[in-house]
Amino acid sequence: MKVGIIGAGQLGRMLALAGYPLGLKFHFLDRAADTPGGQVAPILVGDFEDTAKLTELGRTVDVITFDWENVSASALASITDPASAIARGESANGTRARVWPPAMALATSQDRLLEKELFSILKIPTPPFAAVDSLADLERAAGAIGVPGVLKTRRGGYDGKGQFVVRAAQDIERAWQDLQGQPLIYESFVRFSREVSLIGVRSTANETRFYPLCANTHAEGILRHTAAPFVHRALQREAERYLQRLLAHFGYAGVLTLEFFVARGRLLANEMAPRVHNSGHWTIEGAVTSQFENHLRAILGWPLGSTAPVGHSAMINFIGSLPQRERWLSEPNLAFHDYGKEPRPRRKVGHCTIHETSAARRDSRLRRLLKLLPKS
Ligand code: AMP
Repeated sequence: MKVGIIGAGQLGRMLALAGYPLGLKFHFLDRAADTPGGQVAPILVGDFEDTAKLTELGRTVDVITFDWENVSASALASITDPASAIARGESANGTRARVWPPAMALATSQDRLLEKELFSILKIPTPPFAAVDSLADLERAAGAIGVPGVLKTRRGGYDGKGQFVVRAAQDIERAWQDLQGQPLIYESFVRFSREVSLIGVRSTANETRFYPLCANTHAEGILRHTAAPFVHRALQREAERYLQRLLAHFGYAGVLTLEFFVARGRLLANEMAPRVHNSGHWTIEGAVTSQFENHLRAILGWPLGSTAPVGHSAMINFIGSLPQRERWLSEPNLAFHDYGKEPRPRRKVGHCTIHETSAARRDSRLRRLLKLLPKS
């Protein structure tokens, strides 16, 4: 079996590395050959919107998946839609690869407004929000929802890009100047006690499993470190209920991640990611089956592996540049991942995972290791 992966970043690379022991082959599509995925599997170089390239990829693989959200959902839908194939003069006899997760889940995750509207429809609590297309809209939204709040671009933002925190009424004009010219969303600023994510996986054969909650720490909008399992029975149950609604709504296959704020002991959904997720990197060494392997099993309709944690793990992102390799490799129970990327400010270039026999030991070691990180 051959899997096509659109996007050849570190997530795609970790998918391929997880799939080789299962006997799978991979082919990437990305805009540049020199990518983390391109170092471990053949790569087709082309634009994500290029339906000719997508079709070419579809012809050489059995199933297509993607490793980031900004792949064009409509281009993806066009290669799986028989009517578009006929319009291009091709046969619609099912020789094209299937695409998982569904393009609809991708399209929803690409637009923060659609995403939050869906959360509301499915009764998944989310911070109060309003669409903003003008300064007057923003003033109205800030009045109704309150200040502080966060003004975000509806599309294209990630790792804290495309966001402006409105701390006081005087910031409104500046926030507008900064982000205007694109569809926006204003949402209430949540004074959360922590951030958690839930990673779930559903297969084309309808089998569903959930990993334990992960406790995530962000700075400047970028995930810095994750500790898992975050053991909290009530929140785990609540999060699984919400994620289950999304999986069912989309007729989903693959890994789906839902990120939450925990505020006053309750969950508020922030965003979903229809793919393997940075907060699940610890599962490579810290769970019976990694999120990457389970994503592949799920889209191929194979039985899913256990999502049970093995010990207590923490994952630290290496952002900007890698730390001194020999120093970190001398640490016991530490797995070091180098994505093969050039150093650049704010760029995720690698990560490490530690694991310990208790949460307390893990947390104290995590604190110690964080002090050794180069400043990013
Ligand atoms: P996002 O791109 O929406 O995931 O935002 C990145 C990070 O910014 C989140 O993980 C939070 O740490 C912070 N953030 C985003 N939205 C809000 C909000 N409404 N209230 C408080 N913090 C937020």
